[in-house]
Amino acid sequence: MLKTLKILYHQGKQYIPDLTKARVPGIFRGRPEITTVKINEEELASVCPTGAIMVNPVRLDLGKCTFCNECSRLYPEKIRFTTDYKISTNDRSKLIIPEGSVHDLAIDQTLIRADIRRYLKGSLKLRQVSAAGDNSCELELNAAGNVNFDMGRLGIEFVASPRHADGIVITGPVSKNMAEALRMTYEAIPSPKIIILAGTDAISGGIFEGSPAIDRSFIEKNHIDLYVPGNPVHPLTFINGLIDLLGI
Ligand code: SF4
Repeated sequence: MLKTLKILYHQGKQYIPDLTKARVPGIFRGRPEITTVKINEEELASVCPTGAIMVNPVRLDLGKCTFCNECSRLYPEKIRFTTDYKISTNDRSKLIIPEGSVHDLAIDQTLIRADIRRYLKGSLKLRQVSAAGDNSCELELNAAGNVNFDMGRLGIEFVASPRHADGIVITGPVSKNMAEALRMTYEAIPSPKIIILAGTDAISGGIFEGSPAIDRSFIEKNHIDLYVPGNPVHPLTFINGLIDLLGI
């Protein structure tokens, strides 16, 4: 009994009291900051495996970034990753971080469809489709519902059937094999419905961008309601993105 009490004491609280103010360890890579220090920009861009770095001036596309840290490791005076996990947005262009300023990645209120908040604010059920994902984002999305993050307290849950869902969360670059399954799953969801892209692979294709094995036509044709960057996404990035989108 004493042993059990000791374990409970050392474990402390098993849930995060305020999901909007939680702190993450310093090793976490979130929103990058880019200085105006002059360096060889072409050399900087060449170290990026996914072409996420653009030059003249330097910009970093979080939708393509795998958060490998190579740019920051080689050019610490130019790029630094902060622990700011609030990097979800509904505007794809905002994922491009410019140099020289603290970039605001907040949700653009003008882009939110009116029926999203009217119908889905109190209860949002989501169907997750791993479209050739590698299980990393899928694991983190699963963690969003555990006792620690407890996304369910906000009325947000994953469900098994698209017919019970209000939206779809896509992970992975969308392989040709999954393109039709993805389309059919989305069509089975009743309106109004939302589309969320979770992770670098889903947002841009990641390291698979341009591969003949992927088919991004579904993502290109449909309106995307939320982009959640990360490789993989952090549960707090996902949850805070939904809090902002739904206006909770
Ligand atoms: S951390 Fe992102 S931007 Fe930097 S080299 Fe890696 S993929 Fe490219």
